[in-house]
Amino acid sequence: MYELIVQELVEPGSMQRFLGERTSCRYCGATGSAVFGKRRNAHALPAALGNRTLFSLDECRACNDKFSIYEDALCKAVGPFLTLGGVRGRSGVRKTGKTGSKSTVRHTMLEGKRQLSIASEGDAELMGGDQTKGLLSLTMPVDGDKFVPRYAYKALTKVGLSMLPAEELPNFQRAIASLDDLDTEPHPGPLQIGFSYAFVGNAPPALAVTLLRRKDFSAQLPYMIFLLMAGSVCFQIWLRSDNRDADVPEVGRLGIRFNAQLPKPEGGYFPINYCDPLQFDWSDLTPRLQPFQAFELAFNAQTTEGSITPIPRV
Ligand SMILES: [Zn+2]
Repeated sequence: MYELIVQELVEPGSMQRFLGERTSCRYCGATGSAVFGKRRNAHALPAALGNRTLFSLDECRACNDKFSIYEDALCKAVGPFLTLGGVRGRSGVRKTGKTGSKSTVRHTMLEGKRQLSIASEGDAELMGGDQTKGLLSLTMPVDGDKFVPRYAYKALTKVGLSMLPAEELPNFQRAIASLDDLDTEPHPGPLQIGFSYAFVGNAPPALAVTLLRRKDFSAQLPYMIFLLMAGSVCFQIWLRSDNRDADVPEVGRLGIRFNAQLPKPEGGYFPINYCDPLQFDWSDLTPRLQPFQAFELAFNAQTTEGSITPIPRV
């Protein structure tokens, strides 16, 4: 039903790569060398998600400045995952929770090893577990940051658009134009996200993007599906075309179950099995708290094995 038309992988130590050409800005159409700035000005994937090596040559400085607002919203939406996964943004690993809020999560390095510290004022709940077997579980509420859902959705739209082959751009003019104005919706209908996660903590420091295009021209299926994997989280959206999706009904859910192999820094691969995607509608312009209310920590004191499970806000 679908063919894979684009796939990009970014990991620490990747060779620098540059997408597109400096003829005109892919988004606003500006031309001339002065509008673009340095070659490494525009990250094709957000630097805050760990991208150091993949850049867009066809994104002008003015657009890049504007898009940083969308990217910031996306990073806030998954802030606790970035912290727990130790994803290194421009200024180190993101902290979750603000000074003075009920709970905070910090990620630091001590003698080369990752350390997570979790501080909670009174409302972390010891769930008991079976203490005779050395099993403990702890539910840790996380407020995290507020984010504007529509902006976070537009961050995903923008990354999807940045990956499109040039010949597809005429089919996505509405989405492209919407990026120029912060609040404009990229398409009618719900701004739906399929969100899945794999294990939390020790996320592989890798990013991957995939564009899937409908093969059968007459099938009533979304024309273009965009997936972004950032360590332990995976987003999928229907990248809506102006003319290829006219007869396609709204989809109930974006449910691609994705398994990936992401490279380990020390060699070899992590097999990643993402969970069945949770569905979010990110149409809203009203800021809201990031989508997870708590993380449940399970710890076996005898084997010292632990796991962390996110609990969605209801
Ligand atoms: Zn531009």
